[in-house]
This record gives sequence, structure tokens and C-alpha cells, in this order.
Amino acid sequence: MSAVPLRNDQPAINGPRAITVLGATGSIGDSTMDLLRLAPERYQVEALTAHSNVEGLAKLAREFNARFAAIADPARLGELKEALSGTGIACGAGESAIIEAAARPADWLMAAVSGAAGLKPALAAVDRGTTVALANKECLVCAGDFFMQRAVDAGARILPADSEHNALFQALSSGNRAELTRVIITASGGPFRTWAAADIEQATLEQALKHPNWSMGQKITIDSASMMNKGLEVIEAAYLFALSPDQIDVLVHPQSIVHGLVEFSDRSVVAQLGSPDMRIPIAHCLGWPDRIVGPSTRLDLAKIGQLTFEAPDFERFPGLRLAFEALRTGQGATTVFNAANEIAVAAFVGKKIRFGAIARLVEATLEQWVRAGNLAPLTSADDAIAVDHNARNLAASLLPQIAAKAS
Ligand code: NDP
Ligand code: MG
Repeated sequence: MSAVPLRNDQPAINGPRAITVLGATGSIGDSTMDLLRLAPERYQVEALTAHSNVEGLAKLAREFNARFAAIADPARLGELKEALSGTGIACGAGESAIIEAAARPADWLMAAVSGAAGLKPALAAVDRGTTVALANKECLVCAGDFFMQRAVDAGARILPADSEHNALFQALSSGNRAELTRVIITASGGPFRTWAAADIEQATLEQALKHPNWSMGQKITIDSASMMNKGLEVIEAAYLFALSPDQIDVLVHPQSIVHGLVEFSDRSVVAQLGSPDMRIPIAHCLGWPDRIVGPSTRLDLAKIGQLTFEAPDFERFPGLRLAFEALRTGQGATTVFNAANEIAVAAFVGKKIRFGAIARLVEATLEQWVRAGNLAPLTSADDAIAVDHNARNLAASLLPQIAAKAS
């Protein structure tokens, strides 16, 4: 049994729905709020959360008359209270308040915190058995095995919001699980798709932040440039749809129009297409099992003219190779892969390492982790958080030697 519903066999939803958005002030949060704005009478906002952007959170909470607003930074509670005074909107601060927001009764929740910090709140929503639109891929990369099992146990529905996984989710409705032979997720190739390895090695932050097609948060934009994001997505697909690494292929597609393809046993391949606009997959999750009217630009294939595809280069983009290796090693290794990458990206942003060293730090951390024999299966959120924590420490301890080493 899967927590991802594979067919549109659910009854239509009538009446206003209670909606919670975790990470409401971020890029995905912004797209989600944009969709809610199109039909405010259909939704009652239950809770909204942010990390430290009090002003943005309070503005949204007031606009949508949310019942509860939570800020992760505990030092900001006073500011938030002041910003919401006179509104009657309840508020809280700290990790516990984010978890409280996630556990409040909502019919539909968007999990769009960035990073592993999103795991516990997302689990709180899953445990309520609600419908969770999952953008926060780190939940699966860090804890996919039991995250999906907890969803099954609690009767929660996981709707994939990441564009490639949403594409697979839509395409999967064309057949049944036994008929599925392979999935293909596409990658734009990022700003360094055509660059030589030596130039990628020296790429600056400004260059890494220039994504050719998508407008996203900083971390995921850098991950797209290194193709670590595609690695995280390979792992995400494996846990989400219970696939083996051999059933997942990556295809570089610079136009970002075809987002994901599913191959069935008769060799039919079903793909989902759309403009590169996150409001399209989010609208699919928000409307599900129905379709809502979306605000995005219509796809004009004649104007685009050409859709091109190429094989990924595992040499120039070693992050992708490492993701497959971690997936073959097991859940703990994918948690380490993510933790080390988060440390590496922060070090790159802080100008402590070169762009090319991001993958080297991830590789060195994974190697040490595996060599130390730390491969016991993860059976709880606390297990995953402990591995995440230890892997971050290990990556941080390896940072000086990676920074010092020339490529
Ligand atoms: P952003 O950085 O734009 O936004 C992150 C949101 O989470 C903000 O609301 C931020 O609050 C909040 N937040 C950050 N850290 C914490 C924390 N420790 N505790 C609580 N809240 C926190 O990220 P994105 O919207 O780009 O990405 C969110 C998730 O969705 C990521 O997992 C990403 O991989 C995934 N995703 C994103 C896509 C995109 O197009 N952006 C596409 C597919 C998946 P504040 O504003 O106060 O900092
Ligand atoms: Mg994606």
C-alpha cells in the first residue's frame, strides 16, 4: 500500500477547506499563497509559519485572516505579537510552535520549510492523517522509509509538489503500479550545463544563483547548479514511489517543459508538460482530486519550437553520481548525503570553499560515514535527526582539509 494515491478515484471536495502552509514566506509558500488568493472563499487559512521573516508572516496572516501564525526563531515572538496585535490571530515561536501549527486541524497542508528542519513539522501533519502537499524533499531524503510508512499508518495522503515528482504522480495515473517499469525525471542542467569542469570548479555564487528557467530559494538554486538537487530528487522519487535506483533515470532537458515521464510495461511513455512555474504542480496538489483554474501561462509549444534532451554528465556533476551511490547504500547514507550537502552549500555561500568542493565534501563525508560502519536502519525521526546532526559535524570537521585541497 502506498501513501501516494495513484489514481484520481477520490470524491470531489465541496465547501471551504482549512489550509496550513509551512514555510509560507518562502518561494513555494509564495506560489501557494498566490493560488489561495485566486479563490479566497474556498479556503480558510488555519496556520502559517516562517523562520525569521516576521514582517512577511504577519502580513500574510493578516491578509488571509489565519487562525495561527508561528515563527521558528524564538527571539522574534515579541515582534510577531506586536505585528498581529488587535487581529485576534494566535501566535507562537520556536520549533514547538511550528510543530503545533502543523498539528492543527487542516484538510490540506503545504510542507515547504527548507532543509531537514522541515521533518518534524511534516511528520506532525502526517500523524494527523491529513493531506500533505510535500515540497520539502529533505523529509524523504533524510527519513523517507519511515516517513512514507508513518503516512500509510496514519492514513495520510502525500501529494508530490516538487515539479518532477508531481509530473510522475500525474503520469502514473495512466497505468497501475505493476505495469510501471521506469520513471525519468528531467533536469534543466542549470547554469553550468555546458561549462568545462575547470570552470565549474571556480564558479562564483553570483553565477550559481543564475538559474536559466526557474525562480527558487537560494539553497535549491545552488543545488540546481551543482545538480545536487537532481540527486536529492532521485532519492525523493525512490522513497515516494517505492522505486529501486535502477528504475530511475535522469534526463537533461534545458527547456524545462517536460518535467517527468513514466514508462510502462508495453513501452508506452507518458509525460507531463507545462511552463516552468511551480504554481502548476502546486495547483494540481491544491485542487486534487479535482483540477482548479490556474494562473500560469499557457504552454505554447510552437513558440518554444524545440524540446531537446541529453544524457547527464556524471563526471562534471559528481553530485548526481553520489546520490545514486547513497541510495544504493541505504537510508542512513541518503541522510548523510543531504546533511553534508547543506554544510557544503553554506560553506560555499560563506566563501569558505570553491563551488567544485561542494561535491568533494559530500563524497568525503559519505566515505568516512560508510567506513565507520554507521549503517543501521533508521526507525524514527529522532534516529534521522541524530544521523543528520552527526553527519553535519563530520562534514564540518572535514571542511578545512577539503577547503585547503586544490581540485
Ligand atoms: P525558501 O528558502 O524560499 O523558503 C523556506 C521557507 O521555510 C521560508 O518560509 C523560511 O522562513 C522557512 N524556514 C527556513 N528555515 C526554517 C526553519 N529552520 N524552521 C522553520 N521554517 C524555516 O525555500 P523554497 O521555497 O525554495 O523551498 C522550500 C522547500 O521546497 C525545499 O525543501 C525545496 O527543496 C523544496 N522545493 C522548492 C522548489 C522551488 O521552486 N522553490 C521546487 C521544488 C521543491 P523565512 O522566510 O522566515 O526564512
Ligand atoms: Mg524539482
